[in-house]
Amino acid sequence: MTAPDRLTILTYHSLDDTGSVVSIPPSLFVQQMQSLTEIGFQGISLGQALDNRRSTGRWPEHRVAITFDDGFANFHKHALPVLTRYGFSATVFIVTGHVGQDNDWAPPPDELGRQPMLSWPQIKELSDAGIEIGAHTRTHPDLCKVSAKELDTEIAGSVADIEQHIDQPVKTFAYPYGYVSPAATSVAAKLFHGAVTTRLGRAGNDDPTQLPRVDTYYFKHLPAFRAVVEGRSDAYLALRRWGRVAGRLVRAVTTRNSA
Ligand SMILES: [Zn+2]
Repeated sequence: MTAPDRLTILTYHSLDDTGSVVSIPPSLFVQQMQSLTEIGFQGISLGQALDNRRSTGRWPEHRVAITFDDGFANFHKHALPVLTRYGFSATVFIVTGHVGQDNDWAPPPDELGRQPMLSWPQIKELSDAGIEIGAHTRTHPDLCKVSAKELDTEIAGSVADIEQHIDQPVKTFAYPYGYVSPAATSVAAKLFHGAVTTRLGRAGNDDPTQLPRVDTYYFKHLPAFRAVVEGRSDAYLALRRWGRVAGRLVRAVTTRNSA
């Protein structure tokens, strides 16, 4: 029996010890990468995974795509040396209007506070080291709430910003907050090989412009992390995804009834 054709795409944001909902401690990140090698998996970029799928029709086996949203400067300090040590790659999605500044596009989680973002020289260094640089808009807006013109400026503009600074084409995109609209996915379909959401699950035969991911924040326990990567938790992920949808429906109905 062949294994199901699925790929785990991991989501990270910031590597720090603040305990915020977008943070993973640097020491845990080291353990997670070590644990991947122990179970025979290699970390790759989303672009590499998509290239494999485009050329063979399947996701690569014994690989996990590692993605970092937003472009926090702590990627350079805490992720790059570890990924290099294990010979892994990853994708970092950059908010180009905040490069070299901080994460003040929206109030950050209280515990996290304001954090510095990667600079262009650091982004170039990452790219030269084999890390994929993906786009994550210019100002991190909710793409469901912007005009068609702003949609283009935000998405195509962020690609142009990145390509001015690195020697590689931008092939991948992450929707800010994971919010997806038909207009945004049609722009993404024209510009990218693939785009990721925050929908929970492993990627299978999904529309490449709306790929699901697994947020590592929910899998801090190493055995649970390994089980997800090895595909032993697909039923659990589906149940949790349904739980999230059901939770939203209940809130919507409750809000309507109390209005
Ligand atoms: Zn983001």
